[in-house]
Amino acid sequence: MSAYKKMLVAIDLTEEAPQVLNKAKAISSAHGAELMLVHVVEPVGYAYGGDIPMDLTELQDQLDKAAKEQLAKYGDEYGVAKDDQVVTVGRPESEIHRLAKEQDVDLVIVGSHGRKGFQLLLGSTANGVLHGTECDVLAVRIH
Ligand code: AMP
Repeated sequence: MSAYKKMLVAIDLTEEAPQVLNKAKAISSAHGAELMLVHVVEPVGYAYGGDIPMDLTELQDQLDKAAKEQLAKYGDEYGVAKDDQVVTVGRPESEIHRLAKEQDVDLVIVGSHGRKGFQLLLGSTANGVLHGTECDVLAVRIH
């Protein structure tokens, strides 16, 4: 029996995403596991501290739409079913924790920059995901 049945790969939609996706695809294929993709769009209000009186709904909708289109491209390329392509809005760490639990995932895969020194103190998404996810977490080193 395979150790992992359902894997969730968190994708930041930068040019580094394929490095994480390639590993995730190889591992999920080797385990015969289902692969889910998630991208978390950060609320635009956060960037402005929420205190500028502006309706940001349209901008948020555009960001969501662009993220869904990009994730769908990766989904097609890596053979991930439409239902397994998820775009949510919030803080990446929190949304990844929530989704992993809700979807009964047994492995979360994230990219990791291997920060050192001061950068390490600032923390990273990979670190945030590790602390708070109940299942196993794999950090793929980004080069
Ligand atoms: P970081 O080192 O914080 O830039 O993030 C490293 C990894 O965290 C990325 O390779 C992704 O796996 C994951 N990640 C970062 N931001 C997001 C996001 N907005 N949505 C989903 N995953 C993310």
